[in-house]
Amino acid sequence: MPKCPYCKKPVTLSEKTAGSEAQPVRKEVVGTVKKEVLYSCPHCECVLGFSFFLGGVLTGRP
Ligand SMILES: [Zn+2]
Repeated sequence: MPKCPYCKKPVTLSEKTAGSEAQPVRKEVVGTVKKEVLYSCPHCECVLGFSFFLGGVLTGRP
């Protein structure tokens, strides 16, 4: 189980494996064509990382 490097509490990327202990990380998507995703710890709200992907008109992704 992955743990937050800041508060050491268990987190998970998938909501399917989320249980009473591990909570899924928060994802915030910004942008319409170039999407930027910000991942943050659900426990302490520290930023765990971010990434971006192309969406919208190019790929049809929401
Ligand atoms: Zn944390």
